[in-house]
Amino acid sequence: MLKKLSLISIACLACASTTAIAAPKNIIYMIGDGMGPAYLAAYRYYMDNPDTKVVESTVFDELWVGNASTYPDDDTVVTDSAAAATALSSTHKTYNGAIAVDHDHKSLTTMMEIAKAKGMQTGVVVTAQINHATPAGFLAHDPSRNNYNQIADDYIDNKVDGRIVADLMLGGGTSYFIREDRNLVEEFKQAGYQYTDSWTELKALNKLPVLGLFAPKGFVSALDNPEPLPLKQMTEKALELLSPAEKGFVVMIEGSQIDWCGHANDIACAMAEMHDFAEAIKVAKAYVDTHPDTLLVITADHETGGLSLGANGNYSWKRDVVQKVKHTGDYIAGQLLALKDDKVFYQAWLGLTGLELNADEQQLLSKARTEGQKALAVAVKQRIDHYSSTGWTSSGHTAADVPVLAYGADKQQFAGFQDNTDIAAKLIKFIQQK
Ligand SMILES: [Zn+2]
Repeated sequence: MLKKLSLISIACLACASTTAIAAPKNIIYMIGDGMGPAYLAAYRYYMDNPDTKVVESTVFDELWVGNASTYPDDDTVVTDSAAAATALSSTHKTYNGAIAVDHDHKSLTTMMEIAKAKGMQTGVVVTAQINHATPAGFLAHDPSRNNYNQIADDYIDNKVDGRIVADLMLGGGTSYFIREDRNLVEEFKQAGYQYTDSWTELKALNKLPVLGLFAPKGFVSALDNPEPLPLKQMTEKALELLSPAEKGFVVMIEGSQIDWCGHANDIACAMAEMHDFAEAIKVAKAYVDTHPDTLLVITADHETGGLSLGANGNYSWKRDVVQKVKHTGDYIAGQLLALKDDKVFYQAWLGLTGLELNADEQQLLSKARTEGQKALAVAVKQRIDHYSSTGWTSSGHTAADVPVLAYGADKQQFAGFQDNTDIAAKLIKFIQQK
């Protein structure tokens, strides 16, 4: 009897290790562009409640399960968003700049195309132009990310079984979709898509397919945008519209401009983008809570800026300095540029940053003003970095590994260290089980 039991248990162990885990019906795939690990740490301290001794966890911390490498298919180790998006959408590494094509410019099938072939509904939600590198790596094929018009064309010309790949597209980019040589908005309307370019109308949209373009190119930075939490708003609408999909859905939601703030070495800008991304993640997490057949996976395509908390030998990072900054460095410089009177100039600076400067520093800023907006923006951000002890090693990307977060029944599949192509492989395996 004992022998029999142990045989059964051995058989069951084998069965547990070989049986495929039930595929989730829906996949929410979120990408924080440029969001290296230091961004998550910075956001944790930025959001900390100063009235308690303990540093509270963020939604990122709650969902963190692993890390991923991001290197492209060359000897540089440092990827761009196009090669990374291709890896994250197709499992294939390629060269920097490639939109879901290999070195021979041959198309690489993306998970959105596989999902469409399986009868699932698909969507992309971004705050960049919708034809920017990351979403393009899911919906189009092009030898260069810079071919913006051709990529936009591909969004309607690239078909799976005669059907347009994405049922839902929300982001920016009217200047690429409404052109003299081609009006893609009209073509999408003729193909049955509801179209809107207004935030009020977005709320009224009630069925797929949908195209929403809310800016000529990328959105205004979250820190300067009068529209509150645009990514959160679009995420809510996207999940509402995709939810009835009979065979499930796959949606890619990108915090696009975390990367742009990183390129600009602008910490206040980055924290505002992280906040919008965190709020969008909370919406997705709540959706999984009420729809347990949904898997949420979150990662980044690469790290941007070489962000560090504690710079120049200082054992400190001052989040309260960052919290008081009301706008991006570029916006602040634009506001200050026209103010020629030093007293008025400094009062405006105080109003925009809450940061008191000594006489030498005030002079430094006034001097930068005479050199134009770009120089002034750099000087503004340098003061904020100095007083917050924020460090940057680059105006570009770095090869730092990126966090992997997951939520839902299959989240353990994404635990531990993996390559970015592994994330795509696991998700595509789920889609192929349909
Ligand atoms: Zn970038």
